[in-house]
Order: sequence, then C-alpha cells, then structure tokens
Amino acid sequence: MSGGDPSKQSAEEALRESEYRYRNLFQAMAASFWELDFTPVGGMLRGLRKQGIADFAAYFADNPAFVRQMMHVTRVIDVNDQTVALFGNGDKAELLQPLDVYWPEESNHVYAASVLAAVSGRPSYATETKLRKLNGEVFDALFTACFAPEAVANGKLLIGVIDISERVRAQAMLRQVQAEFAHEARVSMLGELTASIAHEVNQPLAAIATNASAGLRWLNRPEPNLDEVRVLTQRIIADAQRAADIISRVRAMAGHKAPESAPISINSVVEEATLFLAHELESHSVALTLQLAKDLPPVLADRIQLQQVVVNLAVNAVQAMSQTPTKRRRLALCTGLHDGRVHVAIEDTGPGIDAAHQPRLFESFFTTKSNGMGMGLPICRSILETYGGAISARNAESGGAVFSFTLPAAH
Ligand code: ADP
Repeated sequence: MSGGDPSKQSAEEALRESEYRYRNLFQAMAASFWELDFTPVGGMLRGLRKQGIADFAAYFADNPAFVRQMMHVTRVIDVNDQTVALFGNGDKAELLQPLDVYWPEESNHVYAASVLAAVSGRPSYATETKLRKLNGEVFDALFTACFAPEAVANGKLLIGVIDISERVRAQAMLRQVQAEFAHEARVSMLGELTASIAHEVNQPLAAIATNASAGLRWLNRPEPNLDEVRVLTQRIIADAQRAADIISRVRAMAGHKAPESAPISINSVVEEATLFLAHELESHSVALTLQLAKDLPPVLADRIQLQQVVVNLAVNAVQAMSQTPTKRRRLALCTGLHDGRVHVAIEDTGPGIDAAHQPRLFESFFTTKSNGMGMGLPICRSILETYGGAISARNAESGGAVFSFTLPAAH
C-alpha cells in the first residue's frame, strides 16, 4: 500500500494501536471481561415499542420469559483469560455461547436492570449478583456493564465480573459470629436483668405486704373498718399493677425494644411517685417538700420508667437518712427548666456521698449497703439515657446528697 494518503495511513495506524492497546488491556485485566453482542435485543425492544409498550421496567418484571429470551439472543463474542479461568473448563471457544447459560433465574432482574440502564443512556451499571459457571456452580459476583456510546451504537457491550464469593462467605461468617456474640451478650445480660427485676419489684412488693397486713388489722377489729380496707386494697392493686408494668419495662429494655415515648409532664410523674412512696416516707418519719415549677414543657419518655427513676432515687434518699435524727429527715423534690432541659432534683438530709464512692456510684452492682444490690442508680441512668437525659450526684451545702437529672424539653 505504498503511496497512500499519509494522514489516512497514520489514522489507521493510530486505530490499530488503540485496538492493540485495548486488546492487551482486555486480556491483562485481573477481572473477568466479556464482550457481548446484543444487536438482536435492540430489535426485540423496538418490537415492544411498536406494540405500544413504553414501560419496559414493568414489562420485564411481568414477563420473565421475555427477559430470558433477551439473554438468549445476547451472544458472547469475546472473553479474556480470567473469564476462561473463572467460568470455563480451560477452553475459550466453549464460552462463546448465548449469555443465558451464565445467568441463573434468580439474577434475571440484574439483566433487566442493565438493559434499562443502557436504554436510558446511563454510562454504566454495577451491582452484586449471582452468576453461573459452565460446570453449573452458581457464585457471588460483582457485575459491571459499561455502555460506551460508540460500542452501544454497534450493538456491543463490555461487562466485567469479579468473583466475590470469598468476601460474601466471609461476611456470612462474620454475621454468624456477630449473632453468636449477641446471644452471649444476652445470656450474660440475663444476670443483670434478673438483678434489675429483683431490685425494682422489691419496693412495690414490700408496699403490697405492708398494706395487706394493715388491711387485715382493720378487718380483725371488733368492728372492722371496711372503708380503710377498701383504700388499702386499692393501693395493693395499684402496687401490683406497678410491679407488672416495671417487669414489662425491664424486659423491653433487655430486649432492646424501642421504648415507647409520649409527651408527659414531669410534675405529674413526681406527684405519682410520691403516692407510691407514701408508706415509705411515713414509716421512716421523713417530711416531704415538693417544689414543682409551673408551666414546665413536657418531656418525651415512658411514664412508668420515669416513675421508677424518681422512686429509686427517693428510696435511696430515705435509706441514706436512716442515721439522721427523725426530726431532721427531709426529702425535697424540685423541678425546673434550664437551657431547654427539664430538671429534677432529689435532695435529702443524710450523710451525703462519700468522695471515694463518687466515681463508682452508677456502676452495676456497686453498693455500700449490707443488703444492697447496686442496681438502682445504673437503672436510673440507663432509663434517662434512653430519652436523651443525664443524671448526676453531688453533696448539698447542708451535707446531704442531691441527685439531679435532666431531660430535653419536648417542643
Ligand atoms: P443500692 O441502693 O442497692 O446500694 P444504688 O445503685 O441505688 O444501689 O446505689 C449505689 C450506692 O450509691 C449506694 O449503696 C450508696 O452508697 C450510694 N447512694 C445512693 N443514693 C445515696 C444517697 N441519697 N445518699 C448517699 N449515698 C447514696
């Protein structure tokens, strides 16, 4: 071809070189590459349009046989060595078949999605899917289709496949290990759960026993006072209900169920808690003062759980005052609003908090009482944290302890 147009010659050379580079790249890539001819698919799609079918996505979803047919007419025209190693039995010619051979039914939607991506002019489409080797083995693959405009115009398509079955297997194993860990954690939580229930139910159970014996005393009088018995029986029902509610809340906490929160008035929670504490305060001769701020915004939380917090802190306060002379035993419950947070403080006239104990107060099972469980404060903290709240402890100037907690005000 001597004497030809030199510019044409160099253009052809450039084309050949680029073709050569492309072929080399195609072969040398670590991933499996395929060149596909999907010209007949174009004809099938035009046929659909002629029938007035415009929503290809819906049509493909309703007609899996049509999708299989599109795969069947899509021919593999070239593959690289990686593909032979991954999919074949060592013979490249064997692989040059209709595409449906490599496509398990469960991956139909991936083929459909790549046709839709090509039709809508997207440059590429990638997803994880299952593909089939010539020996029938189905494996996890990362599939990428590349729709270069010039190639698509010629009915050609390049796809890349990476074998990710190892990774998928590793992930499955990881999930299993995580599930086992979660189970272990749950089993070890059972200990804490049992302790929490035992701790929380103790107070209503003691109240039930006290009210029931008081009721019996009224009944055993020469002239039984039925009105008193009625009041005491109602209290017993309320305490039994509270014990059941507490158990269901503790169980929900252990099961990591999302807590049910509703806008509630903190003042009403404090007032209800004092009803449950009535007997405790009376029998220990503790004087109660309430300083409830007016017009407080509501907080978003579970009413029973907040009652648990207030009751726990108040019972601790009453217990702390056991050495305080009866005249000086005072429990103050105060509410307020500061910086968009609702505050509650529980102040007693006990000995205050020992500085050495301060850092460990909220740890599970930390107790300084001979019959204590060390669960009250950790339960309070965990309940409050669920609702974006916080709790802290300090000593008052008078020497007693102040436990205060805050919760975000609901808007
Ligand atoms: P428990 O009451 O079973 O000991 P808690 O978690 O409720 O468990 O309390 C842990 C510890 O915190 C108590 O043992 C006590 O040492 C200290 N504490 C709690 N409340 C007070 C208080 N009002 N005054 C002084 N110390 C307190």
